[in-house]
Amino acid sequence: MTDGDADGPEPETIASSYGVASDPSYAAVVPPLYLSSTYAFAGYEQQGPYDYGRAGNPTRDMLAKALAALEGGAGAVITSSGMAAIDLLVGRLRPNDLVLAPHDCYGGTMRLLKARAGLGQLRVCFVDQGDMREVGRALEDRPALMIVETPSNPMMRVVDIAALAALAHEAEAKVAVDNTFLSPACQRPLELGADLAIHSTTKYLNGHSDIVGGAVIAADPGQAEELAYWSNAVGSCGAPFDAWLTLRGLRTLYPRMRQQQANAMSIARYLADHPAVSKVYYPGLESHDTHGIARRQQKGFGAMLSFELEGGVDKVRRFIEAVKFFTLAESLGGVESLVSHPATMTHADMGEEARGRAGIKETLLRLSVGLEAESDLIAGLQCGLAAC
Ligand code: PLP
Repeated sequence: MTDGDADGPEPETIASSYGVASDPSYAAVVPPLYLSSTYAFAGYEQQGPYDYGRAGNPTRDMLAKALAALEGGAGAVITSSGMAAIDLLVGRLRPNDLVLAPHDCYGGTMRLLKARAGLGQLRVCFVDQGDMREVGRALEDRPALMIVETPSNPMMRVVDIAALAALAHEAEAKVAVDNTFLSPACQRPLELGADLAIHSTTKYLNGHSDIVGGAVIAADPGQAEELAYWSNAVGSCGAPFDAWLTLRGLRTLYPRMRQQQANAMSIARYLADHPAVSKVYYPGLESHDTHGIARRQQKGFGAMLSFELEGGVDKVRRFIEAVKFFTLAESLGGVESLVSHPATMTHADMGEEARGRAGIKETLLRLSVGLEAESDLIAGLQCGLAAC
Protein backbone atom coordinates (compact mmCIF):
# COMPACT_ATOMS: atom_id res chain seq x y z
CA MET A 1 0.00 0.00 0.00
CA THR A 2 1.64 3.24 -1.04
CA ASP A 3 -0.91 5.78 -2.08
CA GLY A 4 -4.04 7.39 -0.71
CA ASP A 5 -6.73 9.35 -2.57
CA ALA A 6 -10.39 10.19 -2.20
CA ASP A 7 -11.47 6.64 -3.07
CA GLY A 8 -8.49 5.05 -1.38
CA PRO A 9 -8.04 3.50 2.03
CA GLU A 10 -9.03 5.09 5.33
CA PRO A 11 -6.47 7.39 7.00
CA GLU A 12 -5.82 4.80 9.75
CA THR A 13 -4.83 2.36 7.02
CA ILE A 14 -2.58 4.89 5.29
CA ALA A 15 -0.85 5.75 8.59
CA SER A 16 -0.31 2.16 9.64
CA SER A 17 0.71 0.71 6.31
CA TYR A 18 2.21 3.39 4.06
CA GLY A 19 5.21 1.81 2.31
CA VAL A 20 4.79 -1.53 4.08
CA ALA A 21 5.99 -4.51 2.00
CA SER A 22 7.24 -2.25 -0.80
CA ASP A 23 10.96 -3.10 -0.56
CA PRO A 24 12.12 -4.14 -4.04
CA SER A 25 15.46 -5.60 -2.86
CA TYR A 26 14.64 -8.12 -0.11
CA ALA A 27 10.87 -7.87 0.34
CA ALA A 28 11.36 -6.44 3.83
CA VAL A 29 7.92 -5.76 5.33
CA VAL A 30 9.14 -2.69 7.20
CA PRO A 31 10.44 -0.06 4.75
CA PRO A 32 14.25 0.04 4.80
CA LEU A 33 16.22 3.03 6.06
CA TYR A 34 18.40 4.63 3.37
CA LEU A 35 21.20 6.59 5.00
CA SER A 36 23.44 7.14 1.97
CA SER A 37 24.23 10.79 1.25
CA THR A 38 25.02 10.06 -2.40
CA TYR A 39 23.75 7.78 -5.18
CA ALA A 40 25.60 6.14 -8.06
CA PHE A 41 24.93 7.18 -11.64
CA ALA A 42 24.40 4.17 -13.92
CA GLY A 43 26.80 5.78 -16.42
CA TYR A 44 27.61 9.04 -18.17
CA GLU A 45 24.54 11.31 -17.95
CA GLN A 46 22.54 8.42 -16.49
CA GLN A 47 21.15 9.75 -13.25
CA GLY A 48 18.78 7.56 -11.25
CA PRO A 49 15.82 8.79 -9.20
CA TYR A 50 18.20 10.09 -6.52
CA ASP A 51 21.59 11.79 -6.75
CA TYR A 52 22.30 13.59 -3.46
CA GLY A 53 20.73 13.35 0.00
CA ARG A 54 19.95 17.04 0.42
CA ALA A 55 17.87 17.03 -2.75
CA GLY A 56 16.11 13.75 -2.05
CA ASN A 57 16.17 10.60 0.05
CA PRO A 58 13.89 7.54 -0.33
CA THR A 59 13.10 7.25 3.38
CA ARG A 60 12.35 10.95 3.72
CA ASP A 61 10.28 10.89 0.56
CA MET A 62 8.23 7.98 1.88
CA LEU A 63 7.35 9.98 5.00
CA ALA A 64 6.56 13.03 2.84
CA LYS A 65 4.15 11.01 0.69
CA ALA A 66 2.49 9.48 3.76
CA LEU A 67 1.94 12.92 5.31
CA ALA A 68 0.68 14.39 2.04
CA ALA A 69 -1.84 11.54 1.82
CA LEU A 70 -2.97 12.01 5.43
CA GLU A 71 -3.38 15.78 5.08
CA GLY A 72 -4.98 15.45 1.64
CA GLY A 73 -2.18 17.45 -0.02
CA ALA A 74 -0.43 17.23 -3.37
CA GLY A 75 3.03 16.90 -1.85
CA ALA A 76 5.10 17.52 1.26
CA VAL A 77 8.57 18.56 2.27
CA ILE A 78 10.21 17.11 5.38
CA THR A 79 12.39 19.54 7.31
CA SER A 80 14.87 19.27 10.17
CA SER A 81 12.47 20.86 12.68
CA GLY A 82 9.07 22.51 12.93
CA MET A 83 10.81 25.89 12.92
CA ALA A 84 12.65 24.95 9.72
CA ALA A 85 9.24 24.14 8.21
CA ILE A 86 7.92 27.59 9.11
CA ASP A 87 11.13 29.23 7.91
CA LEU A 88 10.83 27.39 4.61
CA LEU A 89 7.62 29.36 4.08
CA VAL A 90 8.75 32.74 5.34
CA GLY A 91 12.42 32.62 4.31
CA ARG A 92 11.52 32.89 0.64
CA LEU A 93 9.35 35.99 1.01
CA ARG A 94 10.41 39.36 -0.38
CA PRO A 95 11.42 42.26 1.90
CA ASN A 96 8.10 44.08 1.61
CA ASP A 97 5.94 40.98 1.93
CA LEU A 98 3.68 41.02 4.94
CA VAL A 99 2.99 38.01 7.16
CA LEU A 100 -0.14 37.97 9.31
CA ALA A 101 0.38 35.76 12.33
CA PRO A 102 -1.70 35.06 15.44
CA HIS A 103 -0.98 37.29 18.44
CA ASP A 104 -0.85 34.14 20.58
CA CYS A 105 1.24 31.93 18.30
CA TYR A 106 3.95 29.55 19.50
CA GLY A 107 6.80 31.58 21.04
CA GLY A 108 9.35 30.20 18.58
CA THR A 109 7.21 31.27 15.63
CA MET A 110 6.93 34.76 17.07
CA ARG A 111 10.70 34.90 17.67
CA LEU A 112 11.45 33.81 14.08
CA LEU A 113 9.02 36.28 12.51
CA LYS A 114 10.29 39.17 14.65
CA ALA A 115 13.91 38.25 13.92
CA ARG A 116 13.37 38.15 10.16
CA ALA A 117 11.32 41.37 10.30
CA GLY A 118 14.12 42.95 12.35
CA LEU A 119 16.54 42.25 9.51
CA GLY A 120 14.12 43.81 7.02
CA GLN A 121 13.50 40.45 5.34
CA LEU A 122 9.71 40.64 5.71
CA ARG A 123 7.03 42.60 7.53
CA VAL A 124 4.95 41.02 10.24
CA CYS A 125 1.67 41.89 11.90
CA PHE A 126 0.32 39.91 14.86
CA VAL A 127 -3.46 39.86 15.01
CA ASP A 128 -6.20 38.26 17.06
CA GLN A 129 -7.51 35.81 14.47
CA GLY A 130 -10.61 35.21 16.53
CA ASP A 131 -11.63 38.79 15.75
CA MET A 132 -12.70 38.86 12.10
CA ARG A 133 -12.87 42.67 12.04
CA GLU A 134 -9.23 42.90 13.14
CA VAL A 135 -8.31 40.28 10.54
CA GLY A 136 -10.26 42.20 7.86
CA ARG A 137 -8.41 45.42 8.69
CA ALA A 138 -5.03 43.64 8.59
CA LEU A 139 -5.90 42.10 5.22
CA GLU A 140 -6.32 45.58 3.72
CA ASP A 141 -2.52 45.73 3.81
CA ARG A 142 -2.48 42.81 1.29
CA PRO A 143 -0.33 40.24 3.15
CA ALA A 144 1.51 37.56 1.19
CA LEU A 145 0.97 34.92 3.85
CA MET A 146 -1.39 34.32 6.74
CA ILE A 147 -0.16 31.86 9.36
CA VAL A 148 -2.89 30.27 11.46
CA GLU A 149 -2.35 28.19 14.57
CA THR A 150 -5.35 26.39 15.98
CA PRO A 151 -5.79 25.43 18.74
CA SER A 152 -3.34 28.08 19.91
CA ASN A 153 -0.46 27.38 22.22
CA PRO A 154 -0.96 27.47 25.20
CA MET A 155 -4.44 29.06 25.44
CA MET A 156 -6.18 26.49 23.20
CA ARG A 157 -8.12 29.18 21.36
CA VAL A 158 -9.71 27.72 18.27
CA VAL A 159 -10.12 29.90 15.19
CA ASP A 160 -12.28 29.25 12.15
CA ILE A 161 -9.94 28.02 9.42
CA ALA A 162 -12.54 28.07 6.64
CA ALA A 163 -13.64 31.64 7.41
CA LEU A 164 -10.05 32.89 7.70
CA ALA A 165 -9.00 31.14 4.49
CA ALA A 166 -11.94 32.62 2.58
CA LEU A 167 -11.09 36.16 3.76
CA ALA A 168 -7.36 35.71 3.10
CA HIS A 169 -7.99 34.35 -0.39
CA GLU A 170 -10.14 37.37 -1.23
CA ALA A 171 -7.05 39.44 -0.41
CA GLU A 172 -4.88 37.02 -2.45
CA ALA A 173 -2.90 35.85 0.57
CA LYS A 174 -1.75 32.26 1.00
CA VAL A 175 -2.88 30.50 4.16
CA ALA A 176 -0.65 28.15 6.16
CA VAL A 177 -2.10 26.34 9.18
CA ASP A 178 0.17 25.01 11.89
CA ASN A 179 -1.54 21.67 12.58
CA THR A 180 0.98 20.51 15.16
CA PHE A 181 -1.44 20.48 18.11
CA LEU A 182 -4.01 18.20 16.49
CA SER A 183 -2.39 16.26 13.63
CA PRO A 184 -4.42 15.10 10.61
CA ALA A 185 -6.12 12.58 12.89
CA CYS A 186 -8.17 15.45 14.35
CA GLN A 187 -8.01 18.26 11.81
CA ARG A 188 -7.35 18.56 8.08
CA PRO A 189 -6.70 22.25 7.27
CA LEU A 190 -6.40 21.75 3.50
CA GLU A 191 -9.97 20.42 3.38
CA LEU A 192 -11.03 23.61 5.16
CA GLY A 193 -9.45 25.80 2.48
CA ALA A 194 -5.86 26.31 3.67
CA ASP A 195 -3.09 26.22 1.07
CA LEU A 196 -0.49 24.72 3.35
CA ALA A 197 -0.35 22.63 6.52
CA ILE A 198 2.69 22.90 8.78
CA HIS A 199 3.87 20.40 11.38
CA SER A 200 6.41 20.07 14.06
CA THR A 201 6.68 16.30 13.50
CA THR A 202 8.56 16.32 16.81
CA LYS A 203 5.10 16.16 18.39
CA TYR A 204 2.12 13.88 17.60
CA LEU A 205 3.20 12.62 14.19
CA ASN A 206 6.30 10.97 15.62
CA GLY A 207 4.70 10.70 19.05
CA HIS A 208 7.63 9.27 21.01
CA SER A 209 9.70 12.37 21.86
CA ASP A 210 12.83 10.99 20.21
CA ILE A 211 13.28 13.18 17.13
CA VAL A 212 13.07 16.84 16.17
CA GLY A 213 11.52 17.35 12.75
CA GLY A 214 9.04 19.26 10.66
CA ALA A 215 6.93 19.14 7.54
CA VAL A 216 5.07 21.41 5.16
CA ILE A 217 2.24 19.90 3.12
CA ALA A 218 0.98 21.82 0.09
CA ALA A 219 -2.46 21.55 -1.49
CA ASP A 220 -1.13 22.55 -4.88
CA PRO A 221 1.49 20.45 -6.75
CA GLY A 222 3.28 23.60 -8.01
CA GLN A 223 3.62 24.89 -4.43
CA ALA A 224 4.93 21.49 -3.31
CA GLU A 225 7.58 21.57 -6.04
CA GLU A 226 8.55 25.11 -5.16
CA LEU A 227 8.99 24.13 -1.51
CA ALA A 228 11.12 21.14 -2.48
CA TYR A 229 13.27 23.50 -4.58
CA TRP A 230 13.77 25.81 -1.59
CA SER A 231 14.41 22.94 0.81
CA ASN A 232 17.25 21.80 -1.41
CA ALA A 233 18.47 25.38 -1.94
CA VAL A 234 18.70 26.19 1.77
CA GLY A 235 19.47 22.66 2.98
CA SER A 236 16.68 22.47 5.57
CA CYS A 237 15.94 18.78 4.93
CA GLY A 238 15.23 16.32 7.73
CA ALA A 239 17.61 13.44 8.49
CA PRO A 240 16.68 10.02 7.02
CA PHE A 241 16.84 8.26 10.40
CA ASP A 242 14.46 10.84 11.89
CA ALA A 243 12.13 10.30 8.93
CA TRP A 244 12.26 6.54 9.49
CA LEU A 245 11.44 6.93 13.19
CA THR A 246 8.63 9.35 12.36
CA LEU A 247 7.18 6.87 9.88
CA ARG A 248 7.30 4.26 12.63
CA GLY A 249 5.59 6.63 15.07
CA LEU A 250 2.97 7.50 12.46
CA ARG A 251 1.83 3.84 12.39
CA THR A 252 0.03 4.36 15.70
CA LEU A 253 -1.03 8.00 15.29
CA TYR A 254 -4.77 7.36 15.15
CA PRO A 255 -5.13 5.04 18.18
CA ARG A 256 -2.69 7.22 20.13
CA MET A 257 -4.75 10.34 19.43
CA ARG A 258 -7.98 8.57 20.33
CA GLN A 259 -6.69 7.40 23.69
CA GLN A 260 -4.75 10.54 24.54
CA GLN A 261 -7.69 12.81 23.85
CA ALA A 262 -10.02 10.58 25.89
CA ASN A 263 -7.57 10.96 28.80
CA ALA A 264 -7.43 14.73 28.19
CA MET A 265 -11.22 15.05 28.29
CA SER A 266 -11.42 13.23 31.64
CA ILE A 267 -8.61 15.37 33.04
CA ALA A 268 -10.22 18.59 31.81
CA ARG A 269 -13.47 17.65 33.55
CA TYR A 270 -11.62 16.71 36.73
CA LEU A 271 -9.68 20.01 36.78
CA ALA A 272 -12.76 22.08 35.98
CA ASP A 273 -14.40 20.80 39.19
CA HIS A 274 -11.34 21.25 41.41
CA PRO A 275 -11.33 24.18 43.88
CA ALA A 276 -7.56 24.77 43.48
CA VAL A 277 -8.09 25.43 39.76
CA SER A 278 -9.57 28.74 38.63
CA LYS A 279 -9.86 28.09 34.89
CA VAL A 280 -9.42 25.24 32.41
CA TYR A 281 -8.67 25.79 28.73
CA TYR A 282 -9.71 22.70 26.76
CA PRO A 283 -11.73 23.01 23.52
CA GLY A 284 -13.60 19.82 24.41
CA LEU A 285 -15.34 21.48 27.37
CA GLU A 286 -18.66 23.05 26.48
CA SER A 287 -17.69 26.01 28.65
CA HIS A 288 -14.67 26.72 26.42
CA ASP A 289 -15.03 30.00 24.46
CA THR A 290 -14.45 28.38 21.08
CA HIS A 291 -15.93 24.93 21.74
CA GLY A 292 -18.46 25.43 18.90
CA ILE A 293 -15.81 26.03 16.23
CA ALA A 294 -13.75 23.11 17.53
CA ARG A 295 -16.77 20.82 17.36
CA ARG A 296 -17.43 21.90 13.79
CA GLN A 297 -13.95 21.85 12.28
CA GLN A 298 -12.14 19.16 14.29
CA LYS A 299 -12.57 15.39 14.44
CA GLY A 300 -11.53 15.35 18.08
CA PHE A 301 -10.52 17.86 20.72
CA GLY A 302 -6.87 16.85 21.02
CA ALA A 303 -4.80 16.00 24.06
CA MET A 304 -3.43 19.44 25.02
CA LEU A 305 -4.95 21.54 27.74
CA SER A 306 -4.00 24.40 30.03
CA PHE A 307 -5.27 25.50 33.40
CA GLU A 308 -4.78 28.31 35.88
CA LEU A 309 -4.13 27.66 39.53
CA GLU A 310 -6.12 29.65 42.05
CA GLY A 311 -3.82 32.06 43.92
CA GLY A 312 -0.29 33.25 43.22
CA VAL A 313 2.74 31.96 41.39
CA ASP A 314 4.04 30.20 44.55
CA LYS A 315 1.31 27.61 43.92
CA VAL A 316 2.97 26.73 40.60
CA ARG A 317 6.18 25.71 42.34
CA ARG A 318 4.27 23.64 44.90
CA PHE A 319 2.19 21.93 42.23
CA ILE A 320 5.21 21.09 40.10
CA GLU A 321 7.10 19.64 43.05
CA ALA A 322 4.21 17.39 44.08
CA VAL A 323 2.58 16.31 40.81
CA LYS A 324 3.11 12.69 39.71
CA PHE A 325 3.18 11.06 36.26
CA PHE A 326 3.60 14.47 34.54
CA THR A 327 7.22 15.33 33.82
CA LEU A 328 8.18 19.00 33.87
CA ALA A 329 9.41 19.50 30.32
CA GLU A 330 8.83 21.51 27.17
CA SER A 331 7.37 19.92 24.05
CA LEU A 332 4.22 17.87 23.66
CA GLY A 333 2.56 15.12 21.69
CA GLY A 334 4.51 12.15 23.03
CA VAL A 335 3.09 9.04 24.66
CA GLU A 336 4.29 10.33 28.03
CA SER A 337 2.48 13.08 29.92
CA LEU A 338 4.25 16.40 30.39
CA VAL A 339 3.55 19.56 32.32
CA SER A 340 5.06 22.91 31.41
CA HIS A 341 4.94 26.45 32.73
CA PRO A 342 4.58 28.62 29.62
CA ALA A 343 5.58 31.94 31.29
CA THR A 344 9.05 30.64 32.25
CA MET A 345 9.49 27.94 29.61
CA THR A 346 7.97 27.82 26.09
CA HIS A 347 6.75 31.43 26.09
CA ALA A 348 9.48 33.09 28.16
CA ASP A 349 11.06 34.78 25.10
CA MET A 350 7.77 36.40 24.15
CA GLY A 351 8.13 39.06 26.85
CA GLU A 352 5.66 40.04 29.54
CA GLU A 353 3.63 42.47 27.44
CA ALA A 354 2.99 40.02 24.59
CA ARG A 355 2.19 37.29 27.12
CA GLY A 356 -0.32 39.62 28.76
CA ARG A 357 -1.95 40.33 25.39
CA ALA A 358 -2.19 36.60 24.71
CA GLY A 359 -3.69 35.99 28.18
CA ILE A 360 -0.79 33.83 29.44
CA LYS A 361 -0.75 34.30 33.21
CA GLU A 362 2.04 33.29 35.58
CA THR A 363 -0.30 30.75 37.19
CA LEU A 364 -0.99 28.99 33.89
CA LEU A 365 0.21 25.42 33.42
CA ARG A 366 0.03 23.43 30.22
CA LEU A 367 -0.46 19.67 30.03
CA SER A 368 0.42 17.33 27.21
CA VAL A 369 -1.67 14.31 28.09
CA GLY A 370 -0.16 10.94 27.27
CA LEU A 371 -1.12 7.30 27.15
CA GLU A 372 -0.84 6.42 30.84
CA ALA A 373 -3.93 5.07 32.62
CA GLU A 374 -6.46 7.84 33.17
CA SER A 375 -6.78 6.88 36.86
CA ASP A 376 -3.03 7.29 37.42
CA LEU A 377 -2.96 10.65 35.65
CA ILE A 378 -5.82 11.96 37.77
CA ALA A 379 -4.22 10.61 40.93
CA GLY A 380 -0.96 12.27 39.90
CA LEU A 381 -2.67 15.63 39.41
CA GLN A 382 -4.46 15.19 42.73
CA CYS A 383 -1.04 15.01 44.44
CA GLY A 384 -0.01 18.28 42.80
CA LEU A 385 -3.25 20.09 43.61
CA ALA A 386 -3.32 18.87 47.21
CA ALA A 387 0.02 20.65 47.72
CA CYS A 388 -1.28 24.01 46.44
N1 PLP B 1 4.62 24.93 16.01
C1 PLP B 1 4.09 24.65 17.21
C2 PLP B 1 2.62 24.82 17.42
C3 PLP B 1 4.91 24.20 18.24
O1 PLP B 1 4.36 23.92 19.44
C4 PLP B 1 6.30 24.04 18.01
C5 PLP B 1 7.19 23.57 19.08
O2 PLP B 1 6.80 23.38 20.21
C6 PLP B 1 6.81 24.36 16.75
C7 PLP B 1 5.94 24.79 15.77
C8 PLP B 1 8.27 24.26 16.46
O3 PLP B 1 8.63 22.92 16.27
P1 PLP B 1 10.10 22.34 16.53
O4 PLP B 1 10.35 22.42 17.99
O5 PLP B 1 10.03 20.96 15.98
O6 PLP B 1 11.05 23.21 15.77
